[in-house]
Amino acid sequence: MLVDADRLHIAIQKNGRLSDTSRELLKDAGLRLQNGRNALTARVENFPADIMFVRDDDIPTFVADGVCEFGIVGGNVLEEFRLSSGEPAVEVVAPLGTARCSLKLAAPEASAWEGPQSLEGQRIATSYPRIVARWLEEQGVTATVVKMNGAVELAPRLRIAPFICDLVSTGATLEANGLKAVADVYDSEAVLIRTTRPISDAARAQGEALLSRIQGVLTTKD
Ligand code: ATP
Ligand code: ZN
Repeated sequence: MLVDADRLHIAIQKNGRLSDTSRELLKDAGLRLQNGRNALTARVENFPADIMFVRDDDIPTFVADGVCEFGIVGGNVLEEFRLSSGEPAVEVVAPLGTARCSLKLAAPEASAWEGPQSLEGQRIATSYPRIVARWLEEQGVTATVVKMNGAVELAPRLRIAPFICDLVSTGATLEANGLKAVADVYDSEAVLIRTTRPISDAARAQGEALLSRIQGVLTTKD
């Protein structure tokens, strides 16, 4: 893609739980995308913006680096990124109310749970080690956090850790793996983020226009 300083670059998830609602939001805001599902980027036909389809984990980095002026990402991924990078150049401009889920701590179904102190000296597997570490600190508990990039719910069976902290919307996956949710660690929803790096005047103006269109869509959905 040509890097055009006067066009906006918007990062959304290529494939996953955020993809459909992200595309829908842009569409409802009146943006018509040129390419289909499998492209890495799409030009917007009727607005000076290009869409970049990426892994959700890369979205905060792209926006903080200013490679993309806007992005849509889960609050959980953004929070983990923030805790890992000090003060990244990114701000939340709108909570979107979609992709709601909770990062929950789960214990073996058969175990006695007597509150966070039951975690003292234990191991906890998660894809969000910094959010979990902060929560443990708030609870005044010392435990070992083991980072896994996926299939966290298998950690107990693989004897990696008896406890896990994972995203849950219904609890069915936990149950299927002999686990029970015992504490809410972080409540998440999708958020629209914007870079706080300096951008061209033209891009800034387009960004304001985009934001007011999106806010219009969100208001009618409330
Ligand atoms: P990628 O391939 O882009 O890295 P991924 O597998 O990491 O994708 P998804 O499973 O698509 O990510 O989840 C993306 C985001 O959707 C999560 O970070 C979270 O904000 C939200 N999410 C995850 N699980 C649920 C759920 N069960 N219900 C609702 N939203 C969820
Ligand atoms: Zn991901």
